[in-house]
Amino acid sequence: MKEGLVIKSTGSWYTVKTNDGEVHNCRIKGRFRMDDIRTTNPISVGDIVEFNQEKDANVIVKINDRKNYIIRKSTNLSKSSQIIAANIDHAFLIVTVNYPLTTSTFIDRFLAAAEAYGIPVNLVFNKIDRYKNGDLTQLNELKDIYQKIGYKCFEVSARTGLNIDLLKEEMKDKINLLSGHSGVGKSTLINLIQPGLELKTGEISESHASGKHTTTFSEMFELDFGGYIIDTPGIRGFGTYNMEKEEMFHFFPEIFKISEKCQFHNCTHMHEPKCAVKKAVETGEIAESRYDSYWGMMSEDEELKYR
Ligand code: GDP
Ligand code: ZN
Repeated sequence: MKEGLVIKSTGSWYTVKTNDGEVHNCRIKGRFRMDDIRTTNPISVGDIVEFNQEKDANVIVKINDRKNYIIRKSTNLSKSSQIIAANIDHAFLIVTVNYPLTTSTFIDRFLAAAEAYGIPVNLVFNKIDRYKNGDLTQLNELKDIYQKIGYKCFEVSARTGLNIDLLKEEMKDKINLLSGHSGVGKSTLINLIQPGLELKTGEISESHASGKHTTTFSEMFELDFGGYIIDTPGIRGFGTYNMEKEEMFHFFPEIFKISEKCQFHNCTHMHEPKCAVKKAVETGEIAESRYDSYWGMMSEDEELKYR
């Protein structure tokens, strides 16, 4: 029996890399049971698996427990889900305050979904070289908001190379996921981090990725200084799929913290009088933009969410 890391999945074949650097193609036999989700594709990149070398193929016999995983809900009738990445050490959300603007709403949705999945996020503010006064003010305000609630922020420029060394240090020996709107400089950044790496992520539109012809293909690329970057089409955002309204506030760390002081244990932090969260928004302890995002997600029509 050997153990290794799944670095590529086609849905029927898995490429597994052992600790001593051997690479094996493996299959699965029979059915793997997942207790909490129905899945058509039980193994993904990032999984640590055990496999046996059998006569005609290597066969995966065990999936180790995951510290986290991302699933994509199929939009077709089967209602099954796919695991598309596992054991992610951290996600990097690439943000630009201009050219193009990444909105607070987008950032907050991403962060909340990542909290729900148990994936730490770092915010990477790119295009620092382009920003003038107004942009810089905006940048500093955002940085303040997110650093205060525990998210690490990087200021980088893929054009000048500013602070790319810090990013690389953070990625070293880790499984990394990079996300961001198109146009924020993701490809340029990745090229700087690992020249020659051609990711497919940005080329596949969300609508294609979530459509009927969804591919189960996913891959991780090794960084020559150690670690991996995950390249799975269609996970630029996570979606908000596994978040129940009643527990939404758990995924906004600062709201969660203050909610302990609310009068009602089932406070929604929206309409209740004497809500500690609303009070904290009034005093500025909780940023208004964050509360607006929370409100927006709480008010969203469930049916529309996956269209
Ligand atoms: P992606 O869609 O996120 O992969 O974005 P790209 O890497 O294709 O970059 C979009 C545009 O922004 C390109 O014209 C890049 O040259 C430009 N760009 C990327 N990073 C920077 C940066 O740090 N500063 C400036 N000024 N432009 C950048
Ligand atoms: Zn409350």
